[in-house]
Amino acid sequence: MGETHFGFQTIDEEEKAHKVGAVFHSVARRYDLMNDVMSVGLHRLWKRFTVEISGVRPGAKVLDVAGGSGDLARLFVHKVGPHGQVILTDINASMLNVGRDRLIDAGLLVPIVQCDAENLPFPDNVFDRVSVGFGLRNMTHKERALKEMQRVLKPGGCLLVLEFSQAWRPLRPVYDAYSFKLLPLMGKLLANDEASYRYLAESIRMHPDQETLKAMMLEAGFGRVDYYNLTGGIVALHKGWKY
Ligand code: SAM
Repeated sequence: MGETHFGFQTIDEEEKAHKVGAVFHSVARRYDLMNDVMSVGLHRLWKRFTVEISGVRPGAKVLDVAGGSGDLARLFVHKVGPHGQVILTDINASMLNVGRDRLIDAGLLVPIVQCDAENLPFPDNVFDRVSVGFGLRNMTHKERALKEMQRVLKPGGCLLVLEFSQAWRPLRPVYDAYSFKLLPLMGKLLANDEASYRYLAESIRMHPDQETLKAMMLEAGFGRVDYYNLTGGIVALHKGWKY
């Protein structure tokens, strides 16, 4: 049995999905509020940018992996229009419950599937776009998940990976202070959950940097892989094509 990271801890691979599940079960109810507070609303811009860069057309089929409370799915629905389809997926039922309620409140009926990104229950070559927003770093076998996303894409389709990444060096001291001091404190005060927000900060530091993720996407079979640094590299959007 292999080992992996859960934040800064080294744990057995088998434990990771369970521990990550507990984090997202715990944060689900306050997830959207905390996203707005922690990113001072920037996550909305990063997600809009992702959907704009996707170049998705009306009528397209889109799979949102680890979609949680459905922000990306909701933005994609407006792009693909009535003849397209967006499917929201996540491994965590608590996050999907929040997502389902928000989509219904917005008057949108979106198919929802609870599934593991490392084993997607879809046939090969069906989606024009696959997105994964702030999800990849939580997965135990990232290479396997990337291969699965590549498998379900149609040739000519592309994957969009929006994820925390390596911040521009001059920003790091302030960003580190923010992540390791302020974030857990905000988690404690606003969500009564310091540990989950400490995991968030740690998991970001353990995630592959821009070039490493690009190499992983190439290894998983994507072509023309490129990335955009957002907000000084605090976040990066990677895009890769299936041929
Ligand atoms: N995409 C949403 C967003 O951008 O707001 C949610 C991101 S949230 C930080 C990370 C999500 O990844 C959680 O909802 C979690 O349940 C999901 N996740 C973690 N591991 C997963 C896996 N192996 N398969 C599918 N989803 C997973």
